[in-house]
Amino acid sequence: MLDFVQLEADLDQEERLIRDTAREFVEEHVKPDIGEHFEEGTFPTELIPEMGELGFYAPNLEGYGSPNVSETAYGLLMQELEAGDSGLRSMASVQGALVMYPIHAYGSEEQKEEWLPKLGQGEAVGCFGLTEPEHGSNPSGMETHAEADGDGYVLNGSKTWITNSPISDVAIVWARDRSAEDNPVRGFLVETDRDGVSTNKITEKLSLRASITGEIGLNNVHVPEANVLPGVSGMKGPLSCLTQARYGIAWGAIGAARDAFEEARQYAQDREQFGGPIGRFQLQQRKLAEMATQITLAQLLAYRLAELKERGDMQPHHVSLSKRNNVRMARDQTRVAREMLGGNGITTDYSPMRHMANMETVYTYEGTHDIHTLVLGEELTGIKAYQ
Ligand code: FAD
Repeated sequence: MLDFVQLEADLDQEERLIRDTAREFVEEHVKPDIGEHFEEGTFPTELIPEMGELGFYAPNLEGYGSPNVSETAYGLLMQELEAGDSGLRSMASVQGALVMYPIHAYGSEEQKEEWLPKLGQGEAVGCFGLTEPEHGSNPSGMETHAEADGDGYVLNGSKTWITNSPISDVAIVWARDRSAEDNPVRGFLVETDRDGVSTNKITEKLSLRASITGEIGLNNVHVPEANVLPGVSGMKGPLSCLTQARYGIAWGAIGAARDAFEEARQYAQDREQFGGPIGRFQLQQRKLAEMATQITLAQLLAYRLAELKERGDMQPHHVSLSKRNNVRMARDQTRVAREMLGGNGITTDYSPMRHMANMETVYTYEGTHDIHTLVLGEELTGIKAYQ
C-alpha cells in the first residue's frame, strides 16, 4: 500500500489498529460487492450496524459511547473507508460529523443521551438537511422555516440532495426561526416518522451511486421545543458541522486515489502488450510516478491538518485548502488510473472509474471547489468575492 515517505512509522498502536480494522472491513465486506451496488444504485445497508459495532461513527468524540480517538486515527479511518467507496465514507461522515457532532456540541443532555449511543452503534441512522432546491452554495438564503406553536415549532420547507434521508430515523434540519428577532438559523431534530415529513429518493445519479440520496419535505411538521438544538444559533451551527465533515473528506479522498493507484500499479505489472507488461513502458511509469507523488503530497497535508486539529488550531481556511486540494488531486489521479486500465478501466470490475465518478460528487458537496477557492481568496486578501 502506497506510503512513500513512511508516514506509517509515526502512527501509534491505536491509530494502526483503527486503520487495520477499517482496511480489513473494506477488503472483506465492501470490495467484493461494491461494483454491483454502484451499478444498481444501492447502498449495503446491512453494513450500517456492523460499522457501528466497529466504532466507525465519530470515534473522535468523547463520551456517550465514543472513545475519543486521535484526529489522525479518525482521518485514517475515513481514508480506508473511501478506499472502499465514497458512498461508504459519506455514510460515516454524515452519521458522525454531521449528525452526532452537532448533537454532541449543541444538544441538550436529553438529546445526547437519547441519540448519541443509538447513532454511534448504527441502531439509528441520521441525515443532515441544509441544502435546498434554490439554495446550495449559499445556504444562508434558506427558505425552510419554523414558527413557534404552543409547546414547540411548526416546520415548513424542503431540503434536497440529502445523503441517507430515505433511510434515516432522524434528520437534523436547519431552518430559520421566524418567531425570533432576525430569524436566526436553528437546528431541529426531526424524527422522520412525524406527520408531514417525506423523504423521496433521488434516483438519477451518475456519481456516488452506492449511496442513498434524497429530499426532505416538511409540510406543517410539529416538533416539540425539546427537539431544538439549544446550544447554537445562526449559520455557525451548520458551518461548524461542515468543517468537521470536510476534515474527513480531505483524508477520505486520498483513500479513493490510493485505491485507484494500487489497481493501476497492479494492472501495469499484469497486463501484457507488445510482448511484455505495460509497466515497462516509460509513459506508464511516468503516470505511476506522478500519481504516487500527488497522493504523497496530499497525505502530508492531511497529517499536518490532523496535528492542527488535535491541538485546537485548525481553522476553516485550513480545511478549505485541504479539501480543495485533496479532492482535486483524487479527481485528476483516478482518471489517470482509469486510463492505464484501457478498456477494462471503464467497467465496474475495477475501481478507478467508480472512484472517478464519485469524485464529481465529492468535488461538489461540502462546499464546491469554487467556493473553497473563494474562502482561500478571502483569507489571502481580506476581500469577500462571493457575491
Ligand atoms: P450551486 O450552488 O447552484 O452551484 C452551481 C455552480 O455555481 C457550481 O459550480 C458552483 O461552484 C458555482 N458557484 C456558486 N456560487 C458561486 C460563486 N459565488 N462564485 C463562483 N461560482 C459559484 N447537502 C446537504 O445539506 N446534506 C447532504 O447530506 C448532502 N449530500 C449530498 C450528496 C450528493 C450526492 C450531492 C451531489 C450533494 C449533496 N449535498 C448535500 C448538497 C451539496 O452540498 C450541494 O450540491 C453543494 O453545496 C452545491 O450546491 P448546488 O448543487 O445547489 O450548486
